[in-house]
Amino acid sequence: MEKVSDYFGSMVFDDRVMKATLPADVYSSLRKTIDQGEQLDIGVANAVATAMKDWAVSKGATHYTHWFQPLTGITAEKHDSFITPSPDGGVIMEFSGKELIKGEPDASSFPSGGLRATFEARGYTAWDPTSYAFIKGKTLCIPTAFCSYGGEALDKKTPLLRSMEALNVQALRVLRLFGNNTVKCVKTSVGPEQEYFLVDREMYNKRKDLVYTGRTLFGAKPPKGQEMDDHYFGVIKPRVAAYMEDLNEELWKLGILAKTEHNEVAPAQHELAPIYSTTNVATDHNQLTMEIMQKVAAKHGLVCLLHEKPFAGVNGSGKHNNWSISTDTGVNLLSPGETPHENAQFLLFLCAVIKAVDDYQDLLRISVATAGNDHRLGANEAPPAVVSMFLGDELSAVLEAIENDAPYNAAERTQMKLGVSVLPKFTRDTTDRNRTSPFAFTGNKFEFRMLGSSNSIACANIMLNAAVAESLKQYADVLEKSDNFREGLQKLIKETLKEHKRIIFNGNGYDEQWIKEATEKRGLLNYATTADCVGHLLDEKNVKMLTEHKVFSETELRSRYEITLENYCKTVLIEARTMCDMVKTEIAPAVESYTAELAKTMSLKQSVGEAIPVSYEKALLVKLSGLIECMSMKTDELEKALSSVSEINSVAEESMAVKNELLVKMSQLRAVCDEAEALTARKYWPFPRYGELLFGVR
Ligand code: ADP
Ligand code: MG
Repeated sequence: MEKVSDYFGSMVFDDRVMKATLPADVYSSLRKTIDQGEQLDIGVANAVATAMKDWAVSKGATHYTHWFQPLTGITAEKHDSFITPSPDGGVIMEFSGKELIKGEPDASSFPSGGLRATFEARGYTAWDPTSYAFIKGKTLCIPTAFCSYGGEALDKKTPLLRSMEALNVQALRVLRLFGNNTVKCVKTSVGPEQEYFLVDREMYNKRKDLVYTGRTLFGAKPPKGQEMDDHYFGVIKPRVAAYMEDLNEELWKLGILAKTEHNEVAPAQHELAPIYSTTNVATDHNQLTMEIMQKVAAKHGLVCLLHEKPFAGVNGSGKHNNWSISTDTGVNLLSPGETPHENAQFLLFLCAVIKAVDDYQDLLRISVATAGNDHRLGANEAPPAVVSMFLGDELSAVLEAIENDAPYNAAERTQMKLGVSVLPKFTRDTTDRNRTSPFAFTGNKFEFRMLGSSNSIACANIMLNAAVAESLKQYADVLEKSDNFREGLQKLIKETLKEHKRIIFNGNGYDEQWIKEATEKRGLLNYATTADCVGHLLDEKNVKMLTEHKVFSETELRSRYEITLENYCKTVLIEARTMCDMVKTEIAPAVESYTAELAKTMSLKQSVGEAIPVSYEKALLVKLSGLIECMSMKTDELEKALSSVSEINSVAEESMAVKNELLVKMSQLRAVCDEAEALTARKYWPFPRYGELLFGVR
């Protein structure tokens, strides 16, 4: 067996390869572009392209592609081979700086939310040198941003990079005020923990709902679910272990820092967490991770389900976005420091996040809004749809003391004076492991837990970065004008706490009482579904903030609004159609066959003589026949709702009808079918049942 350290990153054109293959001057100007965002000239690009191609060809690559993240939420690629004919009838392998920097895929079939009229369907891709190129299969993949010819972002990477830049600009202003003139740039880092389910491929193929929609639309509760809590951190079964081993190897070759793996709460559910990296790289890596997870599963006769709620009645899958801000000098700005000066700086950045989360609760909620994730949020297995923040008792006590000019520790009478007192040490234990909070401080980072397992992490981080940039901007505006920095700082922090402490909640987020308190007493937002929240993307305050920091233009926001709602509607429409199809062609016929057998048995028994009791068959026949009637009626209703929804022209209205009509009718239909499933002989049921799917991988 090869050692991991020998093959880690072997498929990545990383710093080691660049250093080894690029002329010194080319390497140093490329590094400047990567680290400080300096412009790259074409001479350098040509040299990089040649080195990249030679390296890729030596690894067996024949093609290259600009690899990008359109608004579909998955990645896109269009392969071109390196071959160029040579005069002697052969070919040579070529790749120019121009091809590296810019590509022109036909963009007309990607969603643009009306951004791009079809007559100017072309978009272009632009190389993002901050994320390393890599080889997948036989193709050199070059991470790129994707824009329209008018310069509007048609992807998730462009606004993510812009949001990182916005935060960088404002954080630097604040650091300068603290007298720090050495830091050149500030970046955010993310470690996304990814949950997923593994099911047997043969069983999966027998279920149209899984194949078409990624989740089960029917399924009676199995006798055993997750109630024993025996899966969480349990021994990993051999087939799953083999899968994980293979997956790690593939990820490591791509330089992805896959670190921990364990079983999750639900049967068949697992998690993979990487070591954190720069947000942009973490986003690319998470997209790749999701793709490789599915590919490797296929090799093992499995299917990896990334849907947020593949099974009703057991936990769904999310993604925890561990997020922090750090400087190029290696300081984590969300880590409490050793000195009073560092502490004051930490508290200001902490307050910036508190203010950001409170001011832009809606944007955070919107950033995770999909039809799939709506099933999870607020279902007592994931954070509620109400955004709040967990700081832990100790840090909350510190903040409270600052707010009230009160001693932090009554016994020692230590007053929390900023820039004077030293903060107590927050160990991991005192920052707790509250799993019910949507946004938790965990010692030196925040964990945003509302993301769905299939979400691109770009969206959440765009909003988070932008909102924190806005807090920092407001702080810098005030402090730059203040005569006494320390006093100004103290005042600012106190004001922030007074105004925004309503967002801090250290209790149980799954508690009904909390939702009541949050919405009624504290006035926090509670947008239960995608249909309820996405419209607020266009609220004046949100448009103003996002455009001022140049994260989105107004047109881009409008397009995202359209696409998110369109996607929501389409997802549910497909689910509804799949349900109708499954009921008519599989479920109803199966129940019919079983009732026919029951009827036959009953009449056979009756023909033998009146002494033979048939009450069992009769009762079941009555019950199942009733259910078939009901099934057929509910299917008709759903079909009617489907056709009336598809006649609605406005996406806002359509999404409301989807929520209020379709989803309601779908769950009614499901209830009838699940009841029938529980009463129908197994051999008649047309596809694998919950118990088989959830416990079928050994
Ligand atoms: P858990 O939450 O499971 O107890 P950890 O807190 O150690 O585990 O890490 C969870 C994730 O957070 C990992 O992906 C880890 O790399 C990431 N992480 C740790 N420190 C930071 C940081 N400063 N910034 C961003 N992510 C971080
Ligand atoms: Mg975690």
